[in-house]
Amino acid sequence: MKKILICVLVLVLSLGVFAGCGEASGEDEKVLYMYTEAGFAPFEYTVGTEIVGVDVDIAKLIAEELGWTLEIKDVPFASIVSALSEDNVIGAAGMTIDADKSKNVDFSIPYVDSVQTLLVLEGTEVETIAEGKVSQSILKDKKLGVQSGTMSDILLKNTVKPDETVKQYDQYVIGMLDLNDGTIDGLLVDITVAEQLMKKSDVKYDMYTIENTEEKYGIAVKKGNTELLATVNKVLEELLSTGKIDEFIKTHKDA
Ligand code: GLN
Repeated sequence: MKKILICVLVLVLSLGVFAGCGEASGEDEKVLYMYTEAGFAPFEYTVGTEIVGVDVDIAKLIAEELGWTLEIKDVPFASIVSALSEDNVIGAAGMTIDADKSKNVDFSIPYVDSVQTLLVLEGTEVETIAEGKVSQSILKDKKLGVQSGTMSDILLKNTVKPDETVKQYDQYVIGMLDLNDGTIDGLLVDITVAEQLMKKSDVKYDMYTIENTEEKYGIAVKKGNTELLATVNKVLEELLSTGKIDEFIKTHKDA
């Protein structure tokens, strides 16, 4: 009986040790998940089946700093904030730091400046307030497209067109098709992405920045995840101080 008890005890202890080992090796293979929407060049876009871009370059360095592997999840932009419910997850999607999103996630230090831009077919008559700049009020009279859940979407819904329907898209490329065939008069999009859309298209466009819509991008983590946020900020600080983010943007704009 005593022998059996000892055997059982040894077995239980050794199982415990193995279980411990299992967990330890699981720790070693920790994954950092990056949630993004991959139709936002130069920040995230696809080359074949691979997702690349400025945010991917940054996320790779964050994963490297953590000693984790990086996995990218391509989801609709509007679902990114609610996806950030685990400790090993970041939202890196050219996301503008704003009070609304900040209720549900914590943002890094700002890493890119942006401004809202109106993209129209070349030659479209647009009333300007300065060279290449329009007021928010002129947006009222136009049929406009936005990507769902973005600052452009919020701008049109809350500020400019409270009672009207704005055409919402999950991807900007679809909005571009509607712009090209006249279904919409203009598309609202962040400046660097507008420039890239113009560059990559055979159709010719004009773009105008919109007054008082300056924004800054941040990387988002689960609310209260101070540990991961500290690593994200450390990587961003280093990249900003060495001018690397501007280099990443240039590389992906030229790609
Ligand atoms: N910067 C904008 C926002 O956060 C758009 C981002 C995007 O479409 N990927 O709302």
